Amino acid sequence: MNNQINFMEIAFLEAKKSLKKNEVPIGAVIVKNGKIISKGHNLREKRKNALMHAEIIAINRACKKLHSWRLDDCEMYVTLEPCPMCAGAILNARIKKVVYACEEKTSSDKIFETIMKSNRLNHKCNFMKDETFEEESSKLLTDFFKSKRNS
Ligand SMILES: [Zn+2]
Repeated sequence: MNNQINFMEIAFLEAKKSLKKNEVPIGAVIVKNGKIISKGHNLREKRKNALMHAEIIAINRACKKLHSWRLDDCEMYVTLEPCPMCAGAILNARIKKVVYACEEKTSSDKIFETIMKSNRLNHKCNFMKDETFEEESSKLLTDFFKSKRNS
């Protein structure tokens, strides 16, 4: 088992924590030099704050830990393709690479890709999909929204 699988699995476990709290199940971890430096899961309802996405929480914690706003050599593993707000935060934090488990299916506007490819910040952040936890991550979300609709 390589490291990549490990990190995505931990992001997936974070997503499950959101689910337990009746939040949209999304989890993220930030890795530096092969070690996890922070984790986060969506807490929008609990914190009553639209900013509290998994990625933002993980970035916040990583910055506190490293005492820096720059997360240069850090990689993020996240269970869902990040939204525009988080994509902006990822670029602003100078994260090196983003790996996500499943795509955002509600829209076909490719906004994540567009933001990541923007040269506005003169920072290059690589991104890729890692399919290892695609099904599980995606199912977690669809099941969650299904149960919301049915209740
Ligand atoms: Zn987001």
